[in-house]
Amino acid sequence: MKWSWRIGRVAGIDVYFHATFLILLGWVGLQHYLARLNPADAVGGLLFISTLFGIVVLHELGHALTARRFGIRTRDITLLPIGGVARLERMPDNPKEELLVALAGPAVNVALALLLFAVLIPAAARSGLGEVRLVGGHLLVKLMLVNVGLAVFNLIPAFPMDGGRVLRALLALKMDYVRATNIAATVGQGLALVFGFIGLFTNPFLVFIALFVWMGAASEASLVQVKSALGGIPIERAMITDFRTLAPSDPLQRAVEFVLGGFQQDFPVLYEGRLVGVLTRADMLTALAQQGQDAPVSRAMRDRFETADPAEMLDSMLPRLQACECHAIPVLRAGQLVGMLTMDNIGEFLMIQSALRRTTPPKLAVAGLGEA
Ligand code: ZN
Repeated sequence: MKWSWRIGRVAGIDVYFHATFLILLGWVGLQHYLARLNPADAVGGLLFISTLFGIVVLHELGHALTARRFGIRTRDITLLPIGGVARLERMPDNPKEELLVALAGPAVNVALALLLFAVLIPAAARSGLGEVRLVGGHLLVKLMLVNVGLAVFNLIPAFPMDGGRVLRALLALKMDYVRATNIAATVGQGLALVFGFIGLFTNPFLVFIALFVWMGAASEASLVQVKSALGGIPIERAMITDFRTLAPSDPLQRAVEFVLGGFQQDFPVLYEGRLVGVLTRADMLTALAQQGQDAPVSRAMRDRFETADPAEMLDSMLPRLQACECHAIPVLRAGQLVGMLTMDNIGEFLMIQSALRRTTPPKLAVAGLGEA
């Protein structure tokens, strides 16, 4: 995610926080300070919110580690003001697995709440509940309530909340995946309208959450439509077969001519018939600015790049195209370059398919990675 900074690594997964998270910290600090104009209150508020987000990280790890059990890796975990997002490489296709992955996050909060409850009982028995509040137990009570709140909030049956996935997975046990997603997305958008409406009169933060839920539901529905439209179709039916290639010794000027000529944006670089690199438009522009147009392609190209096989299915390529920060993935058959696959190309393919079937094509632009 753009505007995110890495704060650490847990269980092999990088944890980031998003710039908007700072706004939340600032807001919470200010609110606490303004209540009694006491800087210590602000620090206390910030400590509390930091602990809260530690809990959110544990929640996301619940999803990530359960997904790992099903062989799905997690790219990263990002903290946003509305909570955390674990970017799973993909969502499990099996509804039962998706159900478990979705439930694992809230389950962490339930477990933490029970643990805190167990810690609080003896203290309460020893000195009475009033005393517990005074001797620092107050924070533990707050944290227990936070965990209960997080479990309940996340189980609201609306995408992109875990409850939305739980609902979809339960529906998918009974019907096909696209229909289950559409129903779950509609329920989510209905709830978003209700949140938004209530938020207008009570808490602006609720309007923000409603907006987020609305977009999450829409993007989930279109992602699943795209995936179902692309499932079972091999790459070779949609890849570009008419493309230009460059040699490592070619000057960048040659790539510029190709780009201006309107051919393509990313170029495979071949040396003696073998694919040795990819020159992306972005890398070309950077190199032009730094080294000029006579510099060789080899100094601007990437020598580490993704490739695909023409027999691979198109739906599996979407997350790869989105994750690789490239526009095109070279397609190789037995080591020989036979095509290039781009997002635009997949979009064109969907457009043509739905024109042939006289239906509206699913929107490709909003298709995202699996997020939990
Ligand atoms: Zn979750």
